[in-house]
Amino acid sequence: MKVDVVIVGGGPAGLSAAIEIGKRGGKVALVDDHPKLGGKLLGQLHQDGRKTIWWKGNEIAQSLERQALDANVKFLIGKQVWGLEHGWKVHVSDLVLGEEGLVIDSDAVLLATGAVEKPIPLPGWTLPGVISIGAAQVMTNVYQVLPGKNVLIVGIDMLSLSIAQSMKIAGAKIQGIYMLPSSPFSNGATPLSQLESLKHMTDYAPSCFIRLSGKLLQKKMGQKIAAKLYPRTGVKMWGIPIHLRKTLLSINGDQQVNSVTVTTIDIDGNPTGSLRNIEVDAVCISGGLSPLYELAANAGCKFVKLEGLSGTVPLHNRELQTTIPKLFVAGNITGIEGAKVAMAQGKLAGQSICKTIGIGKIYESDIEDSIAYVDELRKLSDIQFHPNVADARQQLEKHWQQWKLVNL
Ligand SMILES: Cc1cc2nc3c(=O)[nH]c(=O)nc-3n(C[C@H](O)[C@H](O)[C@H](O)COP(=O)(O)OP(=O)(O)OC[C@H]3O[C@@H](n4cnc5c(N)ncnc54)[C@H](O)[C@@H]3O)c2cc1C
Repeated sequence: MKVDVVIVGGGPAGLSAAIEIGKRGGKVALVDDHPKLGGKLLGQLHQDGRKTIWWKGNEIAQSLERQALDANVKFLIGKQVWGLEHGWKVHVSDLVLGEEGLVIDSDAVLLATGAVEKPIPLPGWTLPGVISIGAAQVMTNVYQVLPGKNVLIVGIDMLSLSIAQSMKIAGAKIQGIYMLPSSPFSNGATPLSQLESLKHMTDYAPSCFIRLSGKLLQKKMGQKIAAKLYPRTGVKMWGIPIHLRKTLLSINGDQQVNSVTVTTIDIDGNPTGSLRNIEVDAVCISGGLSPLYELAANAGCKFVKLEGLSGTVPLHNRELQTTIPKLFVAGNITGIEGAKVAMAQGKLAGQSICKTIGIGKIYESDIEDSIAYVDELRKLSDIQFHPNVADARQQLEKHWQQWKLVNL
């Protein structure tokens, strides 16, 4: 098969790029290893920030798929890209048939492979009934199966909160969201560091305490006060108790999880002694996300590690070009952000690719407008996975400029 562009990943970034290139006349093959297109969009169902409208990822995925079909994009679903050869030759295997023989020739490649969850080992985490928060999202919102009737979540972040809300609406009793134990796996999470990452969601929190502490949280001293004053019984958000001053010591059960042991902690995350057992039939662990970048490594990209982007990402410029000619990235592979940013990045990557390999007519101003739109969405985004994403993007640009001085 020969096309202009191969896109790896049919999530919001890959689909948006495919639409942009396809509608300008480019021949695109989009490969995704799931049986259905949409990537993580398929499980997303949450309130759209302060507004009362709901973000229904499944509907957005269907709309993007229709637009991509209209733009004559060729879909290869249930197939996985396992290797890239410069030039480009894209190696694809069929996950159902187990065949590895398909090679697609293309002028450019876009990696829009998304993110993976970070597993956090805890005593008892291998028991049936313990799953990752992303698995809980897929079970609840995609397959309409609750992970349990009586669920406890460990790991406080925007994702665990929104998925707790979905499970609650679907009928589960949510015992609460607890702090991850402070360990190297959780980057030494403490109530204090947790408040820093929660400050951006305080504006639209229904809880008075969280709204008020939002103002406090803008300052380091305020974060210390808020952590100290944080009620030991937790604070409810959408009726779900958030326990910033309690962590999990163990998950208990013989054949299946039946309880957890929790303890209170001080603001630095040290257990303060009192233990309590809580009966549950499911535990969801939310340990954060990291960009999925193996194919970029396979292609020989240079990488950079930036905490604000949630880990290691292929070095790329504002037009989403990597250090390898005609290899581009978009979406969560460039750093963990919400779906709206991923879609805007996909459109930008599509334009950059068209400019680079000469598809349609692209003006410099189109690209500049798209870069500005990505920045704008980033600022307004309700779902932020890291508080320092904008700073990290600036650091990334500095790394790019340094690399360019030596290599271009
Ligand atoms: C568990 C989880 C839950 C999330 N929930 C939300 C949420 O509720 N709201 C929100 O705004 N953001 C959420 N996010 C962030 C989310 O990832 C972004 O919103 C957005 O989906 C990222 O888009 P993307 O296109 O970069 O990647 P994805 O949506 O992850 O799509 C990438 C696609 O590429 C495929 N793929 C990867 N490697 C290969 C390969 N080698 N060959 C073929 N296919 C491949 C994947 O299977 C996937 O279908 C969540 C992320 C995760 C991991």
